[in-house]
Amino acid sequence: MPGIFTLPPYDDEPPALLGGFCPVCNAYYFPRPKYCRACLGPLKETRVGSEGSIYSFTIVRKKAPLGLPQPYGVGYVILKETGLFIFSLFDPATLDKLRIGLPVRLAVNTLGVDINGSPCLRPYFTPMPVMSDPGKI
Ligand SMILES: [Zn+2]
Repeated sequence: MPGIFTLPPYDDEPPALLGGFCPVCNAYYFPRPKYCRACLGPLKETRVGSEGSIYSFTIVRKKAPLGLPQPYGVGYVILKETGLFIFSLFDPATLDKLRIGLPVRLAVNTLGVDINGSPCLRPYFTPMPVMSDPGKI
């Protein structure tokens, strides 16, 4: 779907979610509605964030919809940059690491398949690398 996230052509900039910003109300929205919900003014498309922390999550172990891998994780992330609560997928390779408050960042990669059975590009959150972990750099 266009207008949901940025996918920079180079690795120097991480992907980010695209939402709306109302300069009158100083309010951010994701996904971007047509108008500001407070003043009904026009919104500017803007990056609303790529890092945050897990507010809540669950792991779904029954048959996955939309070509998602099974099991899969979903939940709410509070974005550091804008304070928005985002309902999102989590990295299926890190489901055992998920916990409330865990710092996460946005990734965009193939995850599951589309309706034609082809690999599907999706945004999801994955744990931030742990800098103080002994033995890792
Ligand atoms: Zn407004």
